[in-house]
Order: sequence, then C-alpha cells, then structure tokens
Amino acid sequence: YCYSTAQEEASEPSSSNSPSSLSGELHQFQAETRMLLDIVAKSLYSDKEVFVRELVSNASDAIEKARYESVQGKGAVLGEKDLRISISTDKYNKTLTIQDSGIGMTKEELISNLGTIARSGSKAFVEQMKGGASSEDPSSIIGQFGVGFYSAFMVAERVDVLTRTRGHDAVGYKWSSDGCGSYTVEECPEAEPGTQVICHLKVQDREFSDEDTIKRVLKKYSSFVGAPIEVNGEQV
Ligand code: ADP
Ligand code: MG
Repeated sequence: YCYSTAQEEASEPSSSNSPSSLSGELHQFQAETRMLLDIVAKSLYSDKEVFVRELVSNASDAIEKARYESVQGKGAVLGEKDLRISISTDKYNKTLTIQDSGIGMTKEELISNLGTIARSGSKAFVEQMKGGASSEDPSSIIGQFGVGFYSAFMVAERVDVLTRTRGHDAVGYKWSSDGCGSYTVEECPEAEPGTQVICHLKVQDREFSDEDTIKRVLKKYSSFVGAPIEVNGEQV
C-alpha cells in the first residue's frame, strides 16, 4: 500500500519529489509512529469498525474539554447546542467525515498529538511489537491495546484533519497523511472551530461511507458518548 520503503523516503530531500498533491510543510512521523502505522495499515484485523469508536471518542473528549474551558470562563461561552458531533458519509467520494465542535488543536498540538505516540495504549503496543512479539498476530495486538487515532489508517488511504482552536484569533490548520511515513501541515482558513477528520476510504473499505453501516456501528458505541451525534444532519 505504501510505494516506497521508509528508508527511501527518509533519504529523500523532504521538499522535492513528494507525492503529487502534497502542499504545506512536510513532516516525518516519529520512528515508533511509523512502525505502528505500518502494522495498522497492513493488518488483517477483522474488527476494523472500531476505528469509528476511536474517532468518535476523540471527538467526545474534545467536546468535553471545550465544555470544561467554557465553564472555567476560558474561551468562548458555549451552550449545549454548540457542542455536537456531526458525521457525514459520501458514498460517491468514498469518504467518512467526523466533525466535532470541541477544543480543536493548535499547529504545535497537531504535530505532537498526531505525529508522535504519546498515548499509553499505543506505547504498549509498540513495546510489545519490539519485544519479540512481532511473530504474534498483529491483529490480536491491535485488539488488545487499541491504537486510537491511527486506527483510521486501517480503512483510509488518506486522512485529512482540519482543526481550529476556539480562540477568536485562532488560525485553522489542515493535517494530511496517507500513513506512509510522512504528513503535511498547512494553514487552512476554512477550518471551523473544533476538528474535522476526513477519512478517504480504501476501495475495499468503502462500506464505511454507507450511512446505514455507520448508523449500525454507532449504535454499538454511541450510548457512551456525552454529546449529541448526528449522521448526515439527522440526530441518532
Ligand atoms: P488518546 O485519545 O488515547 O489520547 P488518540 O490516538 O486517539 O489517543 O489521539 C491522540 C491525541 O490527538 C489525543 O490525545 C488528542 O490530544 C488529539 N486528538 C485526536 N482527535 C482529536 C479531536 N477530534 N479534537 C482534538 N484533539 C484530538
Ligand atoms: Mg482516542
């Protein structure tokens, strides 16, 4: 799925010969993140739909943080109606988009949160893989630890993240990656406050751009989410 090896990519000057549509600053994933992404994207993990739970739970966390800041008197005053998760499916373009009106990320946060592995589950996963467990079925390890945001790369050939923090003068950014070693970050004036994760699905995983599929998957998890969720404009 990735056309060049990590090594080839690393020895390339980062600005030239980049894949066609790349614009913005090019960043390399941290080595451990690469390793994780490589395993995630190649895995034959049968329970792929868990990526929906991971992205919705991130959206929910982000809303919780925005709510907390608002209550603390930091940032904008938010009413409950301002805090929601909006999911949209586009079968024709094979995309699934999960948008939240939560806390959003600054450029620095985008780079550290989505470029390195900070979270304990992913760390444990990588440790396990390094510690000779690589002969073990990676799927069972994914199932055991969960891989958070990176699980989107089980089903997506590219993930775009548009984000903006809730401050008045906050600048919006777009993060984009095919999960193959690097990602780009650029300013994005059209990013709304909060975060929008756009999964460009692999052909074989296009079922996740189907509204009924997403509704079915959400039924399993959405009862734990502390914010209203809508799918294609309709509350679920
Ligand atoms: P975890 O949720 O366990 O911290 P993830 O891999 O799911 O790990 O996400 C990594 C980090 O990326 C989160 O801790 C958070 O800081 C940031 N993040 C991910 N999704 C969002 C989002 N929708 N809004 C704001 N920050 C997010
Ligand atoms: Mg998470």
